[in-house]
Amino acid sequence: MSDQNKPLAFATRAVQAGTAPDPATGARATPLFLTNGFVFDGPDMAADIFAMRQTGFSYSRGSNPTTAPLERRIASLEGGTGAVAIGSGQAALLVILMTLLESGDEYLAASILFGGSLGLMGRLAKRNDVKPIFVDADRPENFERAITPKTKAIIIESIVNPSGEVVDIESIAKIAQKHKLPLIVDNTLATPFLIRPFEYGADIVFHSASKFLGGHGQVIGGAIVDGGRFDWKGDSRFPMISEPWPDYGNMVLTEKFPASPFAVASRLYGLRDLGPGLSPFNAFMILTGIETLPLRMKRHCANAHVVANYLASHPAVASVSYPGLEGHPNRALALRYSPLGPGSVFTFAHKDGEPGARRFLKNLKLFSHLANIGETRSLAIHPATTTHKSMRPELQAKAGVGPEVIRLSIGLEDTKDLIADLEQALAATA
Ligand SMILES: *Cc1c(COP(=O)(O)O)cnc(C)c1O
Repeated sequence: MSDQNKPLAFATRAVQAGTAPDPATGARATPLFLTNGFVFDGPDMAADIFAMRQTGFSYSRGSNPTTAPLERRIASLEGGTGAVAIGSGQAALLVILMTLLESGDEYLAASILFGGSLGLMGRLAKRNDVKPIFVDADRPENFERAITPKTKAIIIESIVNPSGEVVDIESIAKIAQKHKLPLIVDNTLATPFLIRPFEYGADIVFHSASKFLGGHGQVIGGAIVDGGRFDWKGDSRFPMISEPWPDYGNMVLTEKFPASPFAVASRLYGLRDLGPGLSPFNAFMILTGIETLPLRMKRHCANAHVVANYLASHPAVASVSYPGLEGHPNRALALRYSPLGPGSVFTFAHKDGEPGARRFLKNLKLFSHLANIGETRSLAIHPATTTHKSMRPELQAKAGVGPEVIRLSIGLEDTKDLIADLEQALAATA
């Protein structure tokens, strides 16, 4: 018998956390429940579930028995107190911002982020007056300097898409705590196998599960995880979490759900009101993918290390942004936060500028030229004209996505074959 007090190891939780044999059938794998509604025992039960007086499934926009185990598993892997599965990584960020912020509010964000996050933040600033103040995350003290009375939150990525650089989460968390601001971390590139931001003081973690969590590159999904540590109680800056909900009998989430009030607010407002739920089919696929996360991440990191070192010594390559390389300015931080390696997404600059980068992409055979990362397959793209096209050229250069730059996501293939493909694409003359 297992010792109930001893926490299970990560690899065990990746396979088992949040799931159990189906009580109705004995099915061991989590069944795919493709149903919108769930029959109530009677009118009292229906009313109680709707009013949150009783837990239970009612309608799959808010919760479903295939997505619920996925939520429990992601919460377990991150070390959070609750999670909400959601339609995409974009939807995760949108719901976090909408749940925390109101018109006129500001938040701090690392200036180099995934292009889709920057696009969403810019649009919300214009249309909804919810404003990001961008800060160079290389120096954590920059965040402290940028805080004003209007600041309500701080957002960073643990490993930055696309540069692969690792951010000093703990130093930024200390500043966030000192100023009573929730720290939100996009942990997509690291996954909880490499970095668990809650261990360094983060308050909310979110994911694009379309990437390494699912790992197969077959379905879009996302997740929001509540660290359960932030003191929202009575804090009028965050009324969704700290003040009564009149349409739920004046329920106050910090009182009714003290362990994970942010996750509950994200479900009630984000899923029930706004509506971007995750399809149970996608949840089923992501849950299956997560079971091999530890094995895959080890191999992704090992492969990326070999490929980055190969590129760093290639005459057609001007530079490689991969903090696992000797002499890389981000190496010490990368080793501290992610000793197994800084993931498998990184960039390199072609010596022949944009024409060289275009020629390289056109000649790839094994690498797929497409807009995703974190798949079993190796992938490449030109960020300046695609994922980061909305950035002004000066910002692109600063973010390391100038016209000469290619982003790679190294998959699980044999590195001999990957290097042979890179070799011929770099040697191509037309
Ligand atoms: C892809 C990605 C997102 C957005 O996720 P989708 O599932 O594509 O909506 C957010 N953050 C990072 C770091 C990403 O790589």
